[in-house]
Amino acid sequence: MSRIIDGKAIAAQIKDELKKEVAQMGDRGITVGLAVIQVGDDPASTIYVNNKKKACEYIGIHSVSYELAGDVSQQELLALIDKLNHDEKVNGILVQLPLPEHIDEEKVITAICPDKDVDGFHTENVGRLTVGKDGFLPCTPAGIIQMIKRSGFSIEGKECVVIGRSNIVGKPMAALLLRENGTVTVAHSKTEKLKEVASRADILIAALGKPKFITADYVKEGALVIDVGIHRMQNQKMCGDVDFENIYGKAAAITPVPGGVGPMTIAMLMCNCVKAARR
Ligand code: NAP
Repeated sequence: MSRIIDGKAIAAQIKDELKKEVAQMGDRGITVGLAVIQVGDDPASTIYVNNKKKACEYIGIHSVSYELAGDVSQQELLALIDKLNHDEKVNGILVQLPLPEHIDEEKVITAICPDKDVDGFHTENVGRLTVGKDGFLPCTPAGIIQMIKRSGFSIEGKECVVIGRSNIVGKPMAALLLRENGTVTVAHSKTEKLKEVASRADILIAALGKPKFITADYVKEGALVIDVGIHRMQNQKMCGDVDFENIYGKAAAITPVPGGVGPMTIAMLMCNCVKAARR
């Protein structure tokens, strides 16, 4: 039997801690404000944005939404970010990705003031993470670290294998595991003998974006397996990058999809908003 790590419950615990802190800040006259910008009406983005707004409401964070048309110009979007950068009531700015093709995503991310970059994607925050300085951590990898620690697993000295090297998940995940003194390997689409590499892991992080790709032959007996992937199957059910049923019993613990990494990502976004206001 594998233990199933309940990301939803851990995220709820974190949100309750934040709710208390935000109430105490409110008593001292400090409010927490998040500006959420969505460009276009992609249904998946709308679901993500609504979940973030719901979490804000629960915790007591004042969220303001900007819903821009899909054909908004890059200039208009940058002008809005500039305005929010200078708005004292706004502690955090979030631009829901992906953006339409005519907009340069990197330009938009770097236009956000690094002190309001609650997604942790700005190059200044990426640099801070790399050299071990305090900054905003990207929410998905930061949530995974919290989930591992709060479930009682230690990272120090452990073989950690991250499959995937994207800027938002794989690379910062590797940096955070290293910060926690893990022995880290990053695998990607060009990695040879992936099964051999993956089955060395005490902690295996699957972030490759391929439904049910990771089967038992990628997993060491007794490993902790974190599934970052999110996919909607033809029957409308969700699955991850890990074939849950196939590895169940071989891994010591697994995160489910849904109810694993996803809720942790939102909880860490809320943490970053509160941190921005605390500053
Ligand atoms: P991505 O940008 O598509 O990156 C995928 C990475 O996996 C790339 O580095 C790629 O290697 C590697 N890869 C692809 N196929 C591979 C293979 N067969 N073997 C080994 N490596 C392979 O994806 P992402 O944005 O990091 O997201 C990954 C998954 O996590 C997606 O399913 C996404 O929906 C999900 N996600 C979930 C959350 C959450 O909150 N739960 C947040 C973000 C993302 P190359 O670099 O060589 O191409």
